[in-house]
Amino acid sequence: MLAGVVAQRGLVREPHGRGSHPVTVSVLVRHQSADVTVVGAGAAGLYTALRAARDGARVTLVSATPLAESSSWWAQGGLAAAMSAQDSPERHLRDTIAAGRGAVRESAARVLCDEAPEAVSDLTRLGMRFDADRDGRVALGLEGGHSVRRIVHAGGAATGRRLVRQLSAVAAQQPGIDVIEGRRVVGLLVADGRCTGVRLDDRRLIASGAVVLATGGAAALWSRTTNPAGAVGGGLLLAFAAGATLADLELVQFHPTAVVGANGADGLLVTEAVRGEGARLLDSSGERFVDELAPRDEVARAVQHRMASTGASSVGLDMREVDPALFPNVVSALRQAGIDPERELVPVAPAAHYVMGGIATDVRGRASLPGLYAVGECSCTGLHGANRLASNSLTECFVFGARAAGAAIAEPAPDPVAVRALAGERTGAGQARAGHADAGHAGPVPPISAASRDALWRHAGLERDGSGLEELSRDEHPLVRLIAISALARTESRGAHQRRDFPERDPDFDGRHVTISARGAPVIERWM
Ligand SMILES: Cc1cc2nc3c(=O)[nH]c(=O)nc-3n(C[C@H](O)[C@H](O)[C@H](O)COP(=O)(O)OP(=O)(O)OC[C@H]3O[C@@H](n4cnc5c(N)ncnc54)[C@H](O)[C@@H]3O)c2cc1C
Repeated sequence: MLAGVVAQRGLVREPHGRGSHPVTVSVLVRHQSADVTVVGAGAAGLYTALRAARDGARVTLVSATPLAESSSWWAQGGLAAAMSAQDSPERHLRDTIAAGRGAVRESAARVLCDEAPEAVSDLTRLGMRFDADRDGRVALGLEGGHSVRRIVHAGGAATGRRLVRQLSAVAAQQPGIDVIEGRRVVGLLVADGRCTGVRLDDRRLIASGAVVLATGGAAALWSRTTNPAGAVGGGLLLAFAAGATLADLELVQFHPTAVVGANGADGLLVTEAVRGEGARLLDSSGERFVDELAPRDEVARAVQHRMASTGASSVGLDMREVDPALFPNVVSALRQAGIDPERELVPVAPAAHYVMGGIATDVRGRASLPGLYAVGECSCTGLHGANRLASNSLTECFVFGARAAGAAIAEPAPDPVAVRALAGERTGAGQARAGHADAGHAGPVPPISAASRDALWRHAGLERDGSGLEELSRDEHPLVRLIAISALARTESRGAHQRRDFPERDPDFDGRHVTISARGAPVIERWM
């Protein structure tokens, strides 16, 4: 969809490389400038770009992949917001804090819960049609860890694709947004201690007052995952290389119900919302063994333990009593995989799903490097603590996307001298003169090997220990090493981080975050 927009804007489609698939490339523009550059066109990037443009900013939106390859497109259940008479932001906050196991940064969670209903209203104004109940009110789903129905959804469990489609259609009409699709940011520009732009993989440079990374998560680093293949934390490495601080990389959530071994559908997520409508988890002898609506860390661990004790490679998700009309896309994806959820149990097991950690930011999305922002799954405000409450992440994309847009447009415009210097870079002159330094990678983020992905699953899976993490800290992949170093620093078990060698929760880690930067060893910080 975005490609069409790009073509309308005077950019051209050209054959690229040896493949027969055309990609969109720009017409020999080697440098350009914007008030705000947004990197990534999932829910967070699209919404941030829209909010900044709506406030009058000139925005460049860079997206490396087609829309269907973002996690946002794949999101099923919906977004959490206190919308019913029985609910309140205060109650949503209590559930978020309880799920986060003593590690939630309350100021960030409060922002999320207070501003979530307004985010839903704004999305509705942007043309998003959420599912309604018989009385025409927003229909609310129930998911694990929520004490009340509060999941706003669309198309049953097609929320992500509907959101991405609608937001990209609106972005296409927005004259303030210049879309560059099919190009990857491979480096951040830094001058005088602030982020001043980005470098693309075609060597083009974009100077801007602020750069917002909305590059998504990193759960596809693990060999068993629910995420699209591109979710490998590239934005985290860009930020780290430019000098920004990362946080809580050891905290990765494992989803309890990812399909096992079915016709190419291994890792296919079955949304927690089906458990909200009565689906049950059964072991190989047909016995229930867990409260299906407990927070995710608890359910995932219970599944793992039951598999270990019975020797089975999966447990059964019993959806036979659930109305299939509520989840048409889940039912059809399962049928395509050769499973009939109306007649048989769905074989499921945990898979890496969501990294709570990321680029450390404040509640306006500001990273530790001035001029750099992060929103959505690549960011870490601390709001999810050690275990994200289901469906708080899409909400996060919108609430913090709006906030980051507001702060980013207030940054000083790119220095015209620096922009001219970027132009001079084509002839090899100028960049150094203006003090720009290309702080990021000289090339794309390194690919992850199958061996590293297996090692992450083995040594930083649902349970870890010091010796496995030590081995992982010597892995060839830089982000794998950072995850291992962070996990070694958290010498306790809490939420998604369970250490065999430190099985207890340590109160000294309450409200603490493991941060890491290029300056050296991890630092344990308390965030207010
Ligand atoms: C199967 C599944 C189901 C889920 N269901 C839910 C749910 O029901 N509710 C919920 O709240 N959460 C859900 N989640 C989590 C949620 O979808 C994500 O946390 C959220 O969508 C992340 O959005 P994002 O915009 O931060 O990143 P993404 O949607 O992943 O988008 C990242 C974008 O960045 C681009 N990009 C990355 N690197 C670069 C680069 N270097 N240069 C240019 N572009 C780049 C990518 O191409 C992509 O467009 C689900 C996740 C999955 C995988």
